[in-house]
Amino acid sequence: MNSSLQDSNNLTIHVDGMDVRIVVVLKGDWPAGKLDPTEYDDASQTIRVSSDYDYISDPTGWMRHEVQHHKLIVCNFRDDEYEYPYNAVEKQAYTEQFKYLRSKGVDNWLQLMPNKAQYVKILMKYWNDAGN
Ligand SMILES: [Zn+2]
Repeated sequence: MNSSLQDSNNLTIHVDGMDVRIVVVLKGDWPAGKLDPTEYDDASQTIRVSSDYDYISDPTGWMRHEVQHHKLIVCNFRDDEYEYPYNAVEKQAYTEQFKYLRSKGVDNWLQLMPNKAQYVKILMKYWNDAGN
């Protein structure tokens, strides 16, 4: 990923032929109780990232996950609207994230996101699909 600094907390990255807007949110302003370091805002088509996350090296693949959300919004993908994370949008976002982590040699995704243990069954399915 290439990034260009526009001001202290607004950036644009160029990835897979697209420009994607990123807003870096000071850790103290990150939503209380939100354990993931990133989120995608559909309305503004912006990735929000907590300032303590290294979004360039993207060690847990969350940027890949959010970029996939962006791609689906841009191409007007129609979600089936099952609840998180069982819906078609999250399936695609997690599959991209897991492909990325597999390519980095990660073999235990749950170690990187222990807060997702409640979804282990469906996420393990996405993880296995990402290896095929
Ligand atoms: Zn998601």
